[in-house]
Amino acid sequence: MSLTFGPDRQTREFECECCNAPIERAWNFIYSDGDPYAVYFANCYHHRDRDHDAWIDVIFGTWGDGPDAWVDHVAFACRVGPVAGQTTPASTVVTAGLASPDGSLFGLKLDREAALQHPRLSDFWAASDFVLEHDPLVRGHIYGS
Ligand SMILES: [Zn+2]
Repeated sequence: MSLTFGPDRQTREFECECCNAPIERAWNFIYSDGDPYAVYFANCYHHRDRDHDAWIDVIFGTWGDGPDAWVDHVAFACRVGPVAGQTTPASTVVTAGLASPDGSLFGLKLDREAALQHPRLSDFWAASDFVLEHDPLVRGHIYGS
C-alpha cells in the first residue's frame, strides 16, 4: 500500500480559544495506490503558555459519491507533542473530532478506548505517521523546519 496526498491540500488559520495564539490547520485527502483512502485534519497549536502540539484527525470510509454515500465513515485522532520525561514527541490516541461538528464526514467518532480496540488502528497509525512526516505544516511544527 503506497500512500500519497491528494491534489487539493488546504490550510487555514484560526485563533486559539484559550490564548488567542494562532492555530494553523491543514487538511487533505490521503490516497492509497492512487484512490481516495482517508481525509485528515491537522491542527497545529501555538499556545502561549502550554505545549505546542498538533492534533490529527484521520477519517476512513467510502469516498467519492457525495455525502449520501458516506455511511461508513469512522474517525480516529491523536495528539502529537512533547511528553514529560521524553526527548522526542510522542503520539497519543485521543477522542476524534472534538473540534468538528457531528455528521457524515466524520461519521463514527471513536473515543480513545474504542480506537484502541478498533481493527483499523494500525491503518490509523500508518496514516497519521504519513501526515506527520510529509505534511509540511505538521512536520515543521513538530520537528522544526
Ligand atoms: Zn491556546
